[in-house]
Amino acid sequence: VLSCQDVRKTFGPNVVLDGLSLDVGEHEVVALIGASGSGKSTLLRCVNLLTEIDDGTIRLDGEDITDPRADPDAVRQKIGLVFQSYNLFPHMTVLDNITLAPVRVHRRPVAEAREQAREWLQRVGLADKATAYPDRLSGGQQQRVAIVRALVNSPRLLLLDEVTSALDPELVGEVLTMIRDLKGEGMTMVLATHEMGFARQVADRVAFLDKGKVLEEGPPSRVLGDPAEPRTRQFLARII
Ligand code: ATP
Ligand code: MG
Repeated sequence: VLSCQDVRKTFGPNVVLDGLSLDVGEHEVVALIGASGSGKSTLLRCVNLLTEIDDGTIRLDGEDITDPRADPDAVRQKIGLVFQSYNLFPHMTVLDNITLAPVRVHRRPVAEAREQAREWLQRVGLADKATAYPDRLSGGQQQRVAIVRALVNSPRLLLLDEVTSALDPELVGEVLTMIRDLKGEGMTMVLATHEMGFARQVADRVAFLDKGKVLEEGPPSRVLGDPAEPRTRQFLARII
């Protein structure tokens, strides 16, 4: 589904992605781990074309999305991105939050977008919140709405950046359950996380980012349990 090759991104003198390569297959869930500043969020933003890369290629289903001729709106319709802070519009209902982009940006018929939004809300147990405003929802519910918002375009790929780290511990579970359900439905996902327990539970593969490169990748049990690289070992020793 996704193929990043030799991706390079610098901010001034700061080389954030330094020839990073990563492939993600159909139905695969890949967890990005690594120290703060290792480039996890930057990589997700580059994949979603929120940040322009300096060099390399990113392909989605074989199509070079970093080609200047690629249409960013069309690409973002196929790639959902959810951030740590859910960024729902406070003055809009849940339903309007979810259907805003499909209707305004992607020019989908309102009725169709609403229908699909309601379906998704039903599936994640939030059907009764459709007409509520975000401030009436718990943090966990808001984050689930934000994920639904990324799902209404039926994306090929879902990118999740620390989606549980702004939540109170007791609200983390419901979001993790939702992500696990999505995995069960075959959604292809790349998620950046600081929670190794989460990575271990949902990821098919863990990629350890170090200095803008994937230093080591493999099954969670191997990378987290028996890392080959000294730097991975150091990182894991520091966070546990
Ligand atoms: P964290 O675990 O803290 O979320 P991260 O792995 O997601 O970290 P990034 O947010 O990708 O790390 O940041 C990588 C580096 O890029 C950092 O040094 C950061 O300061 C720098 N950086 C990110 N965005 C910008 C920007 N818009 N302008 C300048 N520097 C940036
Ligand atoms: Mg980050």
